[in-house]
Amino acid sequence: METGTNFTRIVPVVAVRGSVIFPHTDSILTFGRPKSVAAVNASFQEDRVVAIFGQKDPRVKNPDFDDLHKIGTIATITQMMSTDGEIYAMVRGHARIKLEEGIAREPYLSARITEIAEENKDSDEVKALANKLSELFQKSVNLGKSAEITTVMKIISGQVEPVELVDSVASLLEIKQTEKQQLLENFSVKERLEKVIEFLNREVNVLDIERTISIKTQKRFEDQMRKAMLREKRRTIDEELGEEDGASSDDEIGDYKAKVKKAKMPKEVAKKARKEVKRLSQLSPHNPEGAYIRNYIDWLVEMPWSILSDNDVSIAKASKVLNRDHYGIEKAKERILEYLAVMKLKKGETKSQPTILCFIGPPGVGKTSIGKSIARSLGRKFVRVSLGGIRDEAEIRGHRRTYVGALPGRIIQGIKDAGTRNPVFMLDEIDKLGVDFRGDPSSALLEALDPEQNKEFSDHYLEVPFDLSEVVFIATGNILDTVPAPLRDRMEVIKFPGYTEEEKFHIAKVFLWPKQLGLHGLGGKKITIDDQAIREIISRYTREAGVRDLERNLATLCRKVARQVAEKKRHQSKIAASSIKKLLGPRKFSSLLAEKKDEVGMSTGLSVTPAGGEIIFIEVALMPGKGKLTLTGQLGDVMKESVKAAFTWSKAHWHVLGLKEEFAKGIDVHVHVPEGAVPKDGPSAGVAMATALISALTNIAVEREVGMTGELTLRGRVLEIGGVKEKVIAAHRAGLKTIILPKENKKDLVDIPEAVKRDIKFVFASQLDDVLKVAMKAWPPVNLSNRRKYSPSRPTFLAAN
Ligand code: ADP
Repeated sequence: METGTNFTRIVPVVAVRGSVIFPHTDSILTFGRPKSVAAVNASFQEDRVVAIFGQKDPRVKNPDFDDLHKIGTIATITQMMSTDGEIYAMVRGHARIKLEEGIAREPYLSARITEIAEENKDSDEVKALANKLSELFQKSVNLGKSAEITTVMKIISGQVEPVELVDSVASLLEIKQTEKQQLLENFSVKERLEKVIEFLNREVNVLDIERTISIKTQKRFEDQMRKAMLREKRRTIDEELGEEDGASSDDEIGDYKAKVKKAKMPKEVAKKARKEVKRLSQLSPHNPEGAYIRNYIDWLVEMPWSILSDNDVSIAKASKVLNRDHYGIEKAKERILEYLAVMKLKKGETKSQPTILCFIGPPGVGKTSIGKSIARSLGRKFVRVSLGGIRDEAEIRGHRRTYVGALPGRIIQGIKDAGTRNPVFMLDEIDKLGVDFRGDPSSALLEALDPEQNKEFSDHYLEVPFDLSEVVFIATGNILDTVPAPLRDRMEVIKFPGYTEEEKFHIAKVFLWPKQLGLHGLGGKKITIDDQAIREIISRYTREAGVRDLERNLATLCRKVARQVAEKKRHQSKIAASSIKKLLGPRKFSSLLAEKKDEVGMSTGLSVTPAGGEIIFIEVALMPGKGKLTLTGQLGDVMKESVKAAFTWSKAHWHVLGLKEEFAKGIDVHVHVPEGAVPKDGPSAGVAMATALISALTNIAVEREVGMTGELTLRGRVLEIGGVKEKVIAAHRAGLKTIILPKENKKDLVDIPEAVKRDIKFVFASQLDDVLKVAMKAWPPVNLSNRRKYSPSRPTFLAAN
């Protein structure tokens, strides 16, 4: 340990405030206090040596020895200058000293001091630390630390002793006064080096950060300047061109940003939207792309990303709403309530939606209005989109944004119209979807409907997925056959078979008439319609499975009355059956059967078309020829084959029918199914065709009031068919008295309304013979005397009709 004192002497003392003078450093000090001035002057007169001590409390004006730190620096005054009572002195520190005792207080402080020897100043470690400090100091200067150039050169030269180096750097540190004093009071060079390195390191870090910040700030500032300049230039150009409008102004961008925030989009979507807004803000106002981007952002912000109607399923309420709005259709209502019950139970599960509902039935049977009731009972929005005639996948899923005039598909459009994420969404005319080279729309539809996939439904235009999992989809169509099979598998089909006359009557009286009065502003007028008048409209002015035409006719009545009211004429307060002709014009339909007679070669069949059940008349004519079979009336392949089968059966049963063997060789057969250009197909007319054919061949007339349906096999068996309810209702509407059904269809009678069952006699057939027995005016032919003798060489040719 190198402790010990060099010398002891008595010197003038000056107190300094706010700074610490280190040995080996030059400093300029200002003295103003009289005692300090006196001390400096006295010293300068003699050997120029002074003892400098820091003041403990800078606020003390006239410090005594006790007010000074005990460790200070001995220095020489190298230069001095005095002005106006103040003295500027350049002092050079030499060594650390200790204040031993105060000797005098007047005219200035003087004290006995001893010089303190430095400790730990020569080891290798100290040299290494000194090198490190020197390097660090250089770095700090490079980063912008301010110091006099001569001091800097001295410190980084590597020529100075560690003792001198460490004090020089210490004097330049940006640290607190007390920390500087502590460095002064530490006599170990090694420890001081370590401390100073630590302090300087901190400073270098701060300088480093400051520099990065200032570089960034500088860059941002330059950027902003550049943009402001460009913007200003653009404005000037626009002004010159007179095209100020259309620019994506800061207002517009701000507006979009606010809208994006308000739309509560999922994170990814919001990110995309912000990106597009940014793109828009950077676009020149003359760039036509701006319009596309605006359109796109508009779509994004207007989608109901997180808007949901209350999702409260109350079965009791739903049942009430369905019954209040609709008469009859009990089976459909029941299935719908079951569906809603499942939905209620599944609520909260990820796949919250049970299978999709699909309403199948002819127009005007209330499919749409039931859909609306479901929405109302669930408290949700209702939207309806028609799929009829769609052949292009893009109609469902949207066009890519690269196309001019691109838009999202109908699903997304529907959701936007609904304004909520969980509407009741009706897809109309699902049976009229097409498929062609532009892609299969049904596959896109499948994705939309599939609860496994529709959480992330992707629309080509939107580009971001939309969650359709909360939507209640209901598809509707007239017939099931043309609904694409994969779609059919996903759906729970509910059939609306059409109404009987009686049901129509009720619907008209209780629902349609009051509704139409209200719609025509006659709600308060108490205008009634006779029951007989309603019946007249149903049977003579409409022929339909639903009630659409009926409603239209009632609307016409209301219009006429409304006009009378408006013209202040005396209006009718009661519409009687007798006034219908005057108001609606001549009857449109006569009774279907009235114009028909029992005829040879003509039978009454039953079929189901997109417009509901219908009766069809099948005509057969024979003429001389070579056994050729001609079929007309837009028949499908299956129907043609049924005719051939019936012909073959007749040929094989010539003996039963009382014909000559090979009777067919001399004749040609023409089968025709009239009633418009409506394409007809399906096997269910087999029995009716055979009956007409046999009637023509045997020359026995068919009962016109007997309707029949059933598929026929080559061997004369009668097979089960579909659509019994629709067919029976149509037969009832047309006034048929007997209906022949395949035996296996007996079970379907439970669906038939009682009122219809009362009017109609049902016959169940398992063989063609069972049919002929009932349908033909006389049967069997072989034993009957009233049958004209059949001669193959001179067959009886019948004109159809
Ligand atoms: P669809 O969608 O099957 O073609 P709509 O739902 O448009 O038929 O029905 C046509 C009109 O008939 C609507 O005004 C509807 O309210 C009414 N309607 C249909 N069925 C009934 C019913 N069972 N009870 C009351 N009104 C009905």
